[in-house]
Amino acid sequence: MIPQRRPVAAPPYPCAVCTRASTGFAFSAPGTRAAPAFFCSMRCSEVWMVAHRRKIELTRDEAAAALAGGKAAGAYLEQLGRTDMAQFNRVEWAEFCERLTRGYLEELQRQADAQVPF
Ligand SMILES: [Zn+2]
Repeated sequence: MIPQRRPVAAPPYPCAVCTRASTGFAFSAPGTRAAPAFFCSMRCSEVWMVAHRRKIELTRDEAAAALAGGKAAGAYLEQLGRTDMAQFNRVEWAEFCERLTRGYLEELQRQADAQVPF
């Protein structure tokens, strides 16, 4: 004998975005005890997901590399003798960004080289 299935009913919760009646779309964050969020539509679920996207946490190595990039970019500011970036021309801005990025990447490379056992 096959048991009778109960009809699936939409949960009585309002959409977490627009407060219309939810229609079965839901999100429950894994690893948390937070109550699930319900939505009226995929559109509202997408809006909610973008608004609640977790910030990407830097690893300890990435945070150290970010500081190294900042140090390199700061040295460029000292070289220019100016700190008001709104006054930079395009070439100066590009150079500032490159030094920041290069300093970050070179620190990550230095860390990787220090970890290679051969
Ligand atoms: Zn909605």
